[in-house]
Amino acid sequence: MTNRESDGQHFDVIAVGAGMAGLYLLKKLRDAGFSAVALETADDVGGTWYWNRYPGARCDIESLDYSYSFDPELEKEWQWSERYATQPEILRYLQFVANRYDLRRDIRFSTRVDRASWDEDAGLWRITTDNGDRITAQFYVMATGCLSMPKEPDVPGVDRFGGPIYFTNRWPHEGVDFSGKRVAVIGTGSSGIQSIPLIAEQASQITVFQRTANYAAPANNGPVRREHREQLEEDRNAYREGARWSRAGVPISGSTEPFFSVEPGERMRRLEAGWTRGDLLTINSSFADLVVNAAANFEVQEFFRDKVREKVLDPLTAEDLCGKDFPLFSKRLCLETNYFETFNSPKAKLVNLHRTPIKSITEAGIDTSAESMEFDAIVFATGFDAMTGAIVAVDIRGRDGIELKNVWAEGPKTYLGLSVHGFPNFFTITGPGSPSVLSNMAVSIEQHVEWITAALEHLRGEGFHSIEATSAAQESWVTHVNDYANLTLYPQANSWYMGANVPGKPRVFLPYIGGVDRYRQVCDDVVKRDYLGFEQVGNAGSRCNDGVIRPVKPDVQLLLELLASLDQPPLDSLTPEAARQQMEASAAQRPPGPEVDEIIDGILPGPAGELDYRLYKPAIPGLAPIVIYFHGGGWVLGHASSDEPFCRYLCAESNALVISVNYRHAPEARFPAAVDDAVAAVNWIAANAEFLGGDSHNIAVAGWSAGANLAAVVCQLALAHDGPAIKGQLLITPVTDGDFTRPSYRDNAEGYILTRSLMEWFWDHYCDVDDRHDPRASPLRAQSLTGLPPAMVVTAELDPLRDEGNAYADALKAAGVQVQHLQAAGQIHTSLLAVDAIMTSDNTRRLMKDALIGFLR
Ligand code: FAD
Ligand code: NAP
Repeated sequence: MTNRESDGQHFDVIAVGAGMAGLYLLKKLRDAGFSAVALETADDVGGTWYWNRYPGARCDIESLDYSYSFDPELEKEWQWSERYATQPEILRYLQFVANRYDLRRDIRFSTRVDRASWDEDAGLWRITTDNGDRITAQFYVMATGCLSMPKEPDVPGVDRFGGPIYFTNRWPHEGVDFSGKRVAVIGTGSSGIQSIPLIAEQASQITVFQRTANYAAPANNGPVRREHREQLEEDRNAYREGARWSRAGVPISGSTEPFFSVEPGERMRRLEAGWTRGDLLTINSSFADLVVNAAANFEVQEFFRDKVREKVLDPLTAEDLCGKDFPLFSKRLCLETNYFETFNSPKAKLVNLHRTPIKSITEAGIDTSAESMEFDAIVFATGFDAMTGAIVAVDIRGRDGIELKNVWAEGPKTYLGLSVHGFPNFFTITGPGSPSVLSNMAVSIEQHVEWITAALEHLRGEGFHSIEATSAAQESWVTHVNDYANLTLYPQANSWYMGANVPGKPRVFLPYIGGVDRYRQVCDDVVKRDYLGFEQVGNAGSRCNDGVIRPVKPDVQLLLELLASLDQPPLDSLTPEAARQQMEASAAQRPPGPEVDEIIDGILPGPAGELDYRLYKPAIPGLAPIVIYFHGGGWVLGHASSDEPFCRYLCAESNALVISVNYRHAPEARFPAAVDDAVAAVNWIAANAEFLGGDSHNIAVAGWSAGANLAAVVCQLALAHDGPAIKGQLLITPVTDGDFTRPSYRDNAEGYILTRSLMEWFWDHYCDVDDRHDPRASPLRAQSLTGLPPAMVVTAELDPLRDEGNAYADALKAAGVQVQHLQAAGQIHTSLLAVDAIMTSDNTRRLMKDALIGFLR
């Protein structure tokens, strides 16, 4: 580290903020031997718990969990008085922590950071504060909190009001006495829902202006639950470790059962149990799919609405208080105490702003479209410019003077929610793109602080003076964060998670929804892979292992996790018969695919006996265009209906008659039996098209994997031997060459269902080594590809067969064939066909059916 600390104005690290994050960061840095200072606008520690002093302010994660876990001694010294502690108690706790570790000596209070700029030549950050301080540091960390920048009051006329205006997130330290006062409260998020019942107790009248009704569960607060305390004390380390590796930072296990797979009585029992328990997580964790399945979510919304209808006496008010406008959980669920009951009091009134919007705040009160109301005080519980607000409020300039605010103009871009490309030695704690607000923040804060401190120690140990995320790593992380969010119902809500609460803010899902556990694994993996995606620079040179930490699409990852949990033997360790049974059992679990008009099973003559086929008929009059489809399964597995969901999809979406034909399988019938059967099937179908209900002049072929190999070969043979005219070929992750030396066989050898060794097993069963250069086995080896039908070749990034598929597409193009070549990022060999199961491949499937429609037009 540098030696410029002598004037007291240079530090190894400057942290902004002395809330839960800033305090722990100071402690960790000091323990690790770094000089550090925290700069804090407030005149004391506490952050959130310093500012949000409104009546009723409490945590909504149980206090035993919402506490530091880094020091077991600290845990023993502090006892929480309630399950959900009040703001004063949490503030006292953070003050206790600051005192216990003597942290205040490293904090400059009443100091707001206004500007921070990276000085490339000096290799340090220059910080300017509102006190005129000029401080420098090698590293600069924003511990400024996700919910610390109040949202500007965006109600017209706010400056006109003659009486006092209060903001829940900047509440007066001396408190407010509302006795005998007519009070207006605007906002019904967590802050409104917590404060309204207590304000109502004092006020002579309370009028609540509600724009969007929220879902709220009862807090059922009380003393710390005995079993909870016992669970923690029994094995503190295991408990805390469980939290660190849990989905939301609280050690409860989630159900793997989808809502509708559970019998209705049991569903209700679980919902009631969650309701009685009174927390944010139990109901959501009681089923696997409440944030992805709209129908399931709706059922649970109904449960919440019925509870409101039970509590609130006036039916119209009850209806207005029912959350309806957005999926449950897609805004933070609120925990309430007496909130709904408050509206049974004659002094409480609810104004539904959807029905009667605010026209203006006036000198005496508030005018809505329906009436003028007078108030003695107005309370704004209107929330925050969350996650990015406090960060971009500081003028942060990175390399070449680039402004963070501009870099983030269309939404924040970070690597891991920890760092930003173009901003060396800059970190954000619980930044956008990390689990942060979707988790118990105590756990997420500790994880970030520990990760950052370890990174600084690593740099010091290795002689590097700077670290910066690469552009590629950052881009891929942003994609991963968005991909995850888009699998869920969250983006449907106008929430602060989406930036939708602040006028003009880009609509981007801000936190990472993959879970605390998966995220922690990502961060650990980055470190293990020598800070993958970070450039580390020292006097002796730089080091950068650039790359993508999670290339696989999130739903594909979930599928892989599910399969791993089943712990099935690898197919290539089984006999072909056992492998067939295992594959059949997995196939039975798939969604069936869309409805088609009719499904007919039939038999056609093959060169060595009958071949069965399954025909999927579209609901169109007259003769339909024909798609002859060959199933996958490495020439060893599968049958005419083994790719059924995808065949149904192609039929329903392209209005083609899809005929999936079976062929003889290896090892019972080795190469070229499957080819001979495929050729015979195409000839027979072309000759009998009308009988089947299809148009003999309008035939395309399609196939997946080994089936795509057959489809490609059939096109070559039909051309060479004057076979039927084929108008197009859809080749999905095709086998095109019996050569295992291409990089994709190395990069994707394991971990993505189709492994290198399974592919070797397939080839060994199918084809002698000597025959593998035969173009009927390896169509890429054909002498000429000229004149072949137009093709769509689809390859998956994380597939051992990727490169041979790409090579075939290139070779077709080089031979003058019209080719659409689609390379599906983040997909695996099996995921492109996963209709209604893998959403991230929906678009690829759409393009495939469009290509077929194009061939058959
Ligand atoms: P903060 O506590 O927000 O601290 C950031 C500090 O940075 C502030 O003190 C601020 O003054 C300072 N700062 C910001 N900008 C500057 C600047 N430019 N210069 C100097 N100083 C600056 N999370 C949970 O997990 N469970 C809960 O139950 C829970 N309840 C909450 C209740 C409320 C009312 C709110 C608003 C949030 C709640 N949260 C909860 C989220 C909560 O913000 C975090 O749990 C946690 O307290 C954040 O700590 P922090 O140190 O990261 O940020
Ligand atoms: P919030 O959830 O964003 O709620 C703000 C409320 O104000 C919403 O009802 C919003 O309506 C309304 N609003 C905003 N602008 C308005 C306008 N111009 N006119 C009318 N209504 C307007 O903010 P919050 O309640 O402060 O909570 C923010 C987050 O802090 C929470 O989600 C939670 O994470 C944390 N928090 C936790 C607790 C706890 O229980 N521990 C307590 C408080 C806060 P719309 O919904 O229509 O935008």
